[in-house]
Amino acid sequence: MPKYCPTCGNSSDRVKFFGNFCEDCARAKFLEKLPKIVEIVTCKRCGKIKAGGSFVPPNGNNTELAIKPQIGKYAVHLIDYDANSAKIDVSEETPHGRLAVELTIEIRQKKALCDMCYKKACNYYEAVIQLRGNNYKIARFIERITRFFDMNNEFVGKIERADDGSNVYLSNKRLAQAYISKNRLHSTNSFTLAGVKNGKRIYKNTYAIRYE
Ligand SMILES: [Zn+2]
Ligand SMILES: [Zn+2]
Repeated sequence: MPKYCPTCGNSSDRVKFFGNFCEDCARAKFLEKLPKIVEIVTCKRCGKIKAGGSFVPPNGNNTELAIKPQIGKYAVHLIDYDANSAKIDVSEETPHGRLAVELTIEIRQKKALCDMCYKKACNYYEAVIQLRGNNYKIARFIERITRFFDMNNEFVGKIERADDGSNVYLSNKRLAQAYISKNRLHSTNSFTLAGVKNGKRIYKNTYAIRYE
């Protein structure tokens, strides 16, 4: 006994069925359940997008990751995308097999500032390295520590000229300490109380390094 699709009348003799409906109508019903617009939080300064709880580069993998939770429980595969739209493949395992649809959704960018850009914007710093002495060595130090901080997703903020050298402001004191230890630099350290956050004292660290 062939089945007849209640929506279009097609018969199971001629087309594949998913439960009571023909494949085309099952797909159409599935499509109706899916959102046509998703929102992606985008940093207005550096263009990173929020995916999986943090700001990450806006590549294909991360765009897929940002879209996924907004499509519900279904499997999502990104086919193509630009700043304003994405072509995706969405599928669901049903008792009658895998039902898949391809659709183009609109991407709305919600502008925000990522943590790093926010910190840069308000001149945030946790540590200062005071470099004194040999200008050439100081310039090389600044070049290398800037690269090191970039690589670790932190940043060198202000670089201030001082009498006999430079003061370098850094976004992360643990990373500053790690850089000094790793390179076995001799520094004189001091700690200034900068405030109290959630009952914990917050210190800004100063490292003084002299190059002969
Ligand atoms: Zn049908
Ligand atoms: Zn940013």
